Amino acid sequence: MSAEHVDCVVVGAGVVGLAVARALALAGREVLVLEACHAIGTQTSSRNSEVIHAGMYYPTGSLKAELCVRGKALLYAYCAERGIGHSRCGKFIVATVPDQVAKLQAIQDRAIANGVHDLVWLDAAQAQAEEPELHCIAALHSTSTGIVDSHGLMLSLLGDIENLGGMLALNSPLALAEYKDSAIELVAVDGTRLLAKTVVNAAGLQAPALAGRFAGLAPRHVPQAYFAKGSYFTLSGRTPFSRLIYPVPEEAGLGVHLTLDLGGQARFGPDVQWVDTPDDTEVQAARGDAFYAEVRKYWPDLPDGALVPAYAGIRPKISGPGEPARDFCIQGPQVHGVHGLVNLFGIESPGLTSCLAIAEKVVALTR
Ligand SMILES: Cc1cc2nc3c(=O)[nH]c(=O)nc-3n(C[C@H](O)[C@H](O)[C@H](O)COP(=O)(O)OP(=O)(O)OC[C@H]3O[C@@H](n4cnc5c(N)ncnc54)[C@H](O)[C@@H]3O)c2cc1C
Repeated sequence: MSAEHVDCVVVGAGVVGLAVARALALAGREVLVLEACHAIGTQTSSRNSEVIHAGMYYPTGSLKAELCVRGKALLYAYCAERGIGHSRCGKFIVATVPDQVAKLQAIQDRAIANGVHDLVWLDAAQAQAEEPELHCIAALHSTSTGIVDSHGLMLSLLGDIENLGGMLALNSPLALAEYKDSAIELVAVDGTRLLAKTVVNAAGLQAPALAGRFAGLAPRHVPQAYFAKGSYFTLSGRTPFSRLIYPVPEEAGLGVHLTLDLGGQARFGPDVQWVDTPDDTEVQAARGDAFYAEVRKYWPDLPDGALVPAYAGIRPKISGPGEPARDFCIQGPQVHGVHGLVNLFGIESPGLTSCLAIAEKVVALTR
């Protein structure tokens, strides 16, 4: 079968792949998005907290810090321009025991170093005046944290791609790729062949496995994939909180926090459970027991029986249990030497917030 020629192929129609494809199309490139599933955004991009993060947690100078802060500004502007559902509702990060006050102070210092200047320190009385059911001994109020309708965002990105002449092919899993005759040959699972000048691997949880099937890419450039599942439980009944409530962060996640959706429904999560496969997304009701204890640290009056199993997402990790968290890995030809190829590895949180900034970075690597 002879291969069709395309300018750019983006593999994966999650929020990051779609943002990258839109940015390439805006830069005047012909773009085809290949998506393995029957619809866009069915994987990690629809299994998260939908929080627009402010950018205070990540090490100063890291891609996560830079792209979160830039991505937040781009995302708020894009949502406002396109009428995508979002709310700058704010969040409290709360210390519930004296040991955590120093950690809260460290978060504030890091925020300033990362260019996030809107955190407000609250003592217990000030926090409780705003959120009467909250228990804490101190809190940081992040006024630029918000929430976004991630599906509305992805539909808008796809609309832009199509308006700019780009195309989406659903049910089109890519099997393997190889650098050939100054282009990259892609072979889909159904045997279809494409020759592309630029290929962006935005396959999320599958990105390392896919890169491992790229003939000519040295294995040392493909990180080991790890999967950290996060389960959510929704609150039956009304929430007494009007902002997001986060504990001081823990290993591998941000702690079991309270988020709100745009309809005002509260959910708690995600916890951290290392799993062997990226498809293990069933929520085990028994995990709810640990949620009650975690949540009651900051909301002592959480009623018995109020938590209902909801959904789970899997963090696309490239560092394993007990290892320090790794930064986003955005790997272009200057790193791996394969002309035209960009791999995106470890795009965990804050990947949703950062999607438009990641897209800018990728376009720069493809010039
Ligand atoms: C529990 C949890 C909570 C989170 N909360 C937040 C948050 O509140 N705020 C925030 O900013 N970020 C959050 N994130 C991170 C955010 O969700 C991700 O960074 C983002 O969704 C990643 O998008 P993606 O497009 O890279 O991956 P995905 O959404 O996983 O998309 C990858 C796509 O590639 C497709 N694919 C895979 N293999 C192939 C193949 N061979 N051929 C073709 N297609 C393929 C998949 O089907 C999928 O559609 C959270 C993540 C998790 C897990």
